[in-house]
Amino acid sequence: MAKKYIIALDQGTTSSRTILFDDSGKICGISQKETEQIYPKHGWVEQNAVEIYQSQLETLHNVMRENDVDFADVLSIGITNQRETTVVWNKHTGEPVYNAIVWQDVRTTKLCKELKADEQLNDYVRNNTGLVIDSYFSATKIKWILDNVPKAKGLSEKGSLLFGTVDTWLLWNLTKGQVHATDYSNASRTMLYNISELEWDSNMLSRMNVPESMLPEVKPSSFHYGDFTFDDYVIPICGIAGDQQAALFGQACFNKGEIKNTYGTGCFLLMNTGKKPKFSNNGLLTTIAWGLDGEVQYALEGSVFIAGAAIQWLRDGLQLIDHAKDSEYFAKQVKEDSSVYVVPAFSGLGAPYWDMDARGSIFGITRDTGKNHLIKATLESLAYRSKDLILAMEEDSEVKLTSLKVDGGACANNYLMQFQADILDTRVERAEIIESTALGAAYLAGIQIGMWKKEDILNNRKIQKEFKPSMEDEKRNKLYATWKKAVSRSMNWDD
Ligand code: ADP
Repeated sequence: MAKKYIIALDQGTTSSRTILFDDSGKICGISQKETEQIYPKHGWVEQNAVEIYQSQLETLHNVMRENDVDFADVLSIGITNQRETTVVWNKHTGEPVYNAIVWQDVRTTKLCKELKADEQLNDYVRNNTGLVIDSYFSATKIKWILDNVPKAKGLSEKGSLLFGTVDTWLLWNLTKGQVHATDYSNASRTMLYNISELEWDSNMLSRMNVPESMLPEVKPSSFHYGDFTFDDYVIPICGIAGDQQAALFGQACFNKGEIKNTYGTGCFLLMNTGKKPKFSNNGLLTTIAWGLDGEVQYALEGSVFIAGAAIQWLRDGLQLIDHAKDSEYFAKQVKEDSSVYVVPAFSGLGAPYWDMDARGSIFGITRDTGKNHLIKATLESLAYRSKDLILAMEEDSEVKLTSLKVDGGACANNYLMQFQADILDTRVERAEIIESTALGAAYLAGIQIGMWKKEDILNNRKIQKEFKPSMEDEKRNKLYATWKKAVSRSMNWDD
């Protein structure tokens, strides 16, 4: 009998990828294509929405051809995507009225500042959407398109416009304009969705002047959304989740208190907080993890803006290393305890400090400080910043971390992972498949068609390496206290 496959479409910020999984959850093929980033003005980041779709489709066909797999053997498709990025298009022609406005785009900062001046609105947004007012989320990006793109206004009045995050845009195109839908996890990143009531929030819609007719239907993350047809083949699209939530699922963090940390350019930490939303007192975001089995799971989310980017700075800015992975070797050359601290607050500090005026700083330099100390301290800063967020999550959720599941490019660094385990005093588990995002989307699609159950996913999960804490309490406490001192001195610099 021919092998059966599930396809994950992983549409990221810089590339579209398609990953082919077999029925045991093993990766059988990957195809990737970069997408162009457009920077029309300082702080503006756009992408061509048509290119996003076409590059995704191209990688889908490529992965099939390169691995000699027939569409007849593909049982289902799952989608995972860069979140918050906003596409608005004409529902009759399928033509976007403007480029996709990418999550990093800050053109609506001024509007957000005005909105933030209204204290009641801040509380309303936090308690109903789980978010903080920020240009990052889709709401003000949609408003910007409606207010500034000449043809958008007329089309909107005629009810001819549709909005979607990237999942919705892909789904609509893959189903030839038949299905306009999204999942809970993506809806919860728009700043328009009421995460407790599970419906579009009418107050937010009227405040943002967004007509409800533009918005997609919101469905569970594991759900038969519609079908992709190619030649005579009909393949059901059965999973959708935003990238970080998909990674939480791919890491099998199904229970309350389980946390995954993705060490990429930035670090993204998500904690499963169970069936009720937990609202943060530390500036963390509350978000929907996924909808499955007739219920919704919530998560707390925090991010470190500069993580792997600090390693890139060692490589490209300071030219201390040739490759990011070399940082491990150099850090290990320092045998004594840490005395140097790097606070990589290059663009301010996020949760739980929230100080946009903090700047990158180096402390504790003495005459014998050399390159290796700087590299070691920079790696350690990723672990300290992650601990800052985990402590905030523990406080908000009143749940204690038992183990940390890791993925992302920089989790390959053994020095960093051991230090992370030591400074947290918790086990760190590096999964065998670190493509957690795509795996999560594949699992969601596979569950819907009855190919997998949650128990299979737990049983399938293989740990490639486990890092056990081995640092004495006294030392850990001293190191972390010194880190906090370093952070406090880096704050309020650019005032
Ligand atoms: P993204 O998805 O954000 O592009 P990736 O998950 O591909 O990020 O990870 C790449 C980031 O991780 C880069 O910033 C790079 O500097 C860092 N990185 C990759 N490998 C290592 C390593 N072995 N040690 C430390 N940092 C690394």
